[in-house]
Amino acid sequence: MYNSILVPIDVSEDSLTNMVIPFVQAHAVLNTAKVHFLTVVPSLPYYSSLGLAYSVEMPKMKEFQDAAKSKLDEIVKKFKISADKIQLHAVAGSPKDQILKLADMIDADLIIIASHKPDISTYLLGSNAAAVVRHAKCPVLVVR
Ligand code: ADP
Repeated sequence: MYNSILVPIDVSEDSLTNMVIPFVQAHAVLNTAKVHFLTVVPSLPYYSSLGLAYSVEMPKMKEFQDAAKSKLDEIVKKFKISADKIQLHAVAGSPKDQILKLADMIDADLIIIASHKPDISTYLLGSNAAAVVRHAKCPVLVVR
């Protein structure tokens, strides 16, 4: 039923990743789907907000992206999915924007995303899972 499944992964949140594994595996087995794993490296305004110099950090973005992609490659090995069904993506930007953008680009028909249980920090800071549910054009499976 699903041909293109998008799984956004925060490489620093192993517990969230572990939550989605059985769901992603089940859907990958049931469908002839391509599974797209995406990790997003926060963009420069994030680093400048930490006081890091723009000119110094700029060349590092490519390095950060490459490092994130290697980490993603390691993480994806935990999912028992055949290699020919998997595609990895590492981009810079805001996670929710980039998740929605890639969903359009790959014509995703399912997004599988883990979410922290609602708590006060999510309420105050906003949540990637909530934004994806609100704005995605396809079904979204939120695992919590
Ligand atoms: P919540 O939505 O529960 O508040 P987060 O905003 O941390 O928690 O995001 C939950 C999910 O959003 C993660 O499980 C992951 O799928 C996705 N996500 C968050 N940050 C990133 C990132 N940098 N790259 C890719 N996906 C991310």
